[in-house]
Amino acid sequence: MSNGSQILVFKDMGLVSQVFDEASLGSLHGHIAVGHARYSTTGSSVWENAQPTFRATVNGSLALGHNGNLVNTAELAEMVARLPGEEHVSRSGRSAATNDTDLVTALLAGHPELTIEETARQVLPKVKGAFSLVFMDEHTLYAARDPQGIRPLVLGRLERGWVVASETAALDICGASYIREVEPGELIAIDENGMRSSRFAEAKPKGCVFEYVYLARPDTSIAGRNVHLSRVEMGRKLAKEAPVEADLVIATPESGTPAAIGYAEASGIPYGSGLVKNAYVGRTFIQPSQTIRQLGIRLKLNPLKEVIAGKRLVVVDDSIVRGNTQRALVRMLREAGAAEVHIRISSPPVKWPCFFGIDFATRAELIANGMTVEEIGRTLGADSLAYISIDGMIEATTQPKDKLCRACFDGVYPMELPDPALLGKLLLEAEIKGSQQPPAVRGKPHSGADLDGVQSLLGGGGAADALRRP
Ligand code: SF4
Repeated sequence: MSNGSQILVFKDMGLVSQVFDEASLGSLHGHIAVGHARYSTTGSSVWENAQPTFRATVNGSLALGHNGNLVNTAELAEMVARLPGEEHVSRSGRSAATNDTDLVTALLAGHPELTIEETARQVLPKVKGAFSLVFMDEHTLYAARDPQGIRPLVLGRLERGWVVASETAALDICGASYIREVEPGELIAIDENGMRSSRFAEAKPKGCVFEYVYLARPDTSIAGRNVHLSRVEMGRKLAKEAPVEADLVIATPESGTPAAIGYAEASGIPYGSGLVKNAYVGRTFIQPSQTIRQLGIRLKLNPLKEVIAGKRLVVVDDSIVRGNTQRALVRMLREAGAAEVHIRISSPPVKWPCFFGIDFATRAELIANGMTVEEIGRTLGADSLAYISIDGMIEATTQPKDKLCRACFDGVYPMELPDPALLGKLLLEAEIKGSQQPPAVRGKPHSGADLDGVQSLLGGGGAADALRRP
């Protein structure tokens, strides 16, 4: 938060409701603010990696929030180490943060001879990966989106101000009207003179299709398409592609609900509520540790025995990553008296890791890695299992296929990836523990089609590993 002469950063670990209360919010005064709820990707979940990241500059200071994940972190660490005065300073000597975002903040703050806007136009073309950024100095709010526009970022207007947010739902909540998306490759600056736009790279749109499947709020629209309607349509298409005789369609709440409604509508099978969700447990696959994740699954859902006993069920869910949730679910539904359990998934099998901000963890943990759909269905204990096709999912978004990233489903990455050894989540921790020197960028980049390196990075037990898990 900036009051025009000073930036105050208030951040902590935990949910927003645990970090902020009336008193802490009341202490924040000013006319420009950035905020962030961090989804841990590159760098561990520690206070130093919470955002906004902050840097003092010769002319003031800079605070930055980042949605996404970068793929050339090692290269950026080298660039930071070469900043004037930083040549002989190890990263651990300068900043305790070990995330990719901190490097971008250092680079944006590292050119006192230029304005922040000029620096951003020089630095951002060198940053690779997914980045929807909001950043500020004492006087100006900035927003920038990577040339692929992998993560969403929108611009809105209040009566006396501007808002930049990841999702249009955030604009609705704060009473702002939607103006437009921040374009891929665009840099926006907003100050007392209004809003100005410039371009730091040519747009090559590859929006994340998983935003439509699971990530984004249903009341958000991305590239003009409402997310809830996309999910309902995915359910309709799934019913046509994978019909089954059954008595009741139920959803894995809440994320499977729109697709279940679509499935019921297109199949003519009644839709009902068969599972009650504990409202106080977060999304399971983004919990940072396996222990919490497993607890989360047990705490998350309770079957409504009176509704499902004796019924042949279609259970619609948005995705299967590790399979733990669905395995526990099938067991619970059978114990609750379900006659048959048919699982229908409104996205295709997740077979490849995401390097752009979704922490699916390693390829070894993906249950669809190395197993057929039938085999997965058997390991889940389901009577049948079917996924929507990639084309069916994409059609439901109404977006052109070539404008979407769908790499976790088909392995075609929307940009060149560096040497697999330079892609790890804990890359910068390893660097600090190791030589105390900035890492050398090794090997030549390989294209999305050349996945051998990626496979070796993500090697391990494959689906067998997932099967050993409870
Ligand atoms: S790999 Fe999957 S989750 Fe990651 S950006 Fe691409 S579509 Fe989205």
